[in-house]
Amino acid sequence: MSTKIYLDFAAASPLDEGVLEAMLPYFSSRFYNPSNIDDEARLVRADLEAARAKVAFWLGARESEVIFTAGATEANNLAIRGVMNQYPDGNCIISAIEHDSVTAPASEFEAKMLSVNEKGRVELGSLKDLIDSKTVLVSVMYANNEIGSIQPLSEIAQLIKQVRLERKKQSNTFPLLLHTDAAQASQYLDLHVDRIGVDLMSINGGKIYGPKQSGVLYIRGGTQLKAQITGGGQEFNIRSGTENVASSIGFAAALGKAQKMRAEESKRVEVLRDQLIEAIAQSFPGAQLNGSKNHRLPNNVSFNFDGMDGERLIMMLDAKSLICNTGSACSAQKDESSHVIKALGCSESQAAGTLRFTLGRSTTQHEINQSMEILKQVFSEYEKL
Ligand code: PLP
Repeated sequence: MSTKIYLDFAAASPLDEGVLEAMLPYFSSRFYNPSNIDDEARLVRADLEAARAKVAFWLGARESEVIFTAGATEANNLAIRGVMNQYPDGNCIISAIEHDSVTAPASEFEAKMLSVNEKGRVELGSLKDLIDSKTVLVSVMYANNEIGSIQPLSEIAQLIKQVRLERKKQSNTFPLLLHTDAAQASQYLDLHVDRIGVDLMSINGGKIYGPKQSGVLYIRGGTQLKAQITGGGQEFNIRSGTENVASSIGFAAALGKAQKMRAEESKRVEVLRDQLIEAIAQSFPGAQLNGSKNHRLPNNVSFNFDGMDGERLIMMLDAKSLICNTGSACSAQKDESSHVIKALGCSESQAAGTLRFTLGRSTTQHEINQSMEILKQVFSEYEKL
């Protein structure tokens, strides 16, 4: 394991040892195909269904509402295309700061863009204005991966409920469904689907110390959704293909641990987050915090340093043993500045000068102090370039 300070947990988290242990038998003695009818296969099926039940428990859902997927990208694609394919005359709305795995499939259906305010939050009035009589899907992420802003999902769900009631009176039979991408939320926020009021929810394992390419799409019972991968009819005919049992077992174990420790871990990490925010604001007076201070993931620190080159900075920081990111791991591969930072009303140069630090289970006070020392050194070197 690297001895560098790692502050990029929103990009990837290491696999939890207990999760790995839970997965291992399914690579060896329990390799059987859960769809077979021999005794060994039936035992594997029982384990897979127990994993589904565990996930359902943490979501407050029924087991039949949990579809295992290969991560959040697939879950988001399935949610958007799956619903929109059922309603060719319908339209959808997504927030302007969604992850590309929502934006890309939604663009196929000419999704309407819901703007966010300068704190990176959706406003109910703007959403109300965008919903028309044929809107079938609203997709608003639970918490943003770049700036950590947490969306008012329950309030959005309330608004959607009201629109549904009005539609009923008008005999409008289009459904109005709420989807959320909760990929960044599962370590820190409540995932109970009735409490937050969502109809579809995407989660992945790779951000919660589970295996990469593991995850689920929660689909509320009764939702009409077209399968996107067809074949053998696995996963209730929604997602065909021999089940990745090890991955699903690992995901369920990771989700259970993340949800059990979320309150305590949120409190612990929030203290470190606020120290880092405070220290950066004091040491670099031109730095501006991206996103909301109050409605923010406990582990997210994102600042823009106007006029600086974020990519060069992360390379210089990396050379001094501090790993952080500019925005998202995905947009880092493209030569574009972040649509999220620009959606806040920031300039191109503020977007290009953004650094994101995301804390995790192993982050310590000492690491935060050291990170500040490294940041000061690197900024002073950058000034001299
Ligand atoms: N949605 C959000 C908010 C994310 O942060 C990510 C990954 O960074 C994804 C979706 C994609 O998840 P996956 O890599 O599991 O496909």
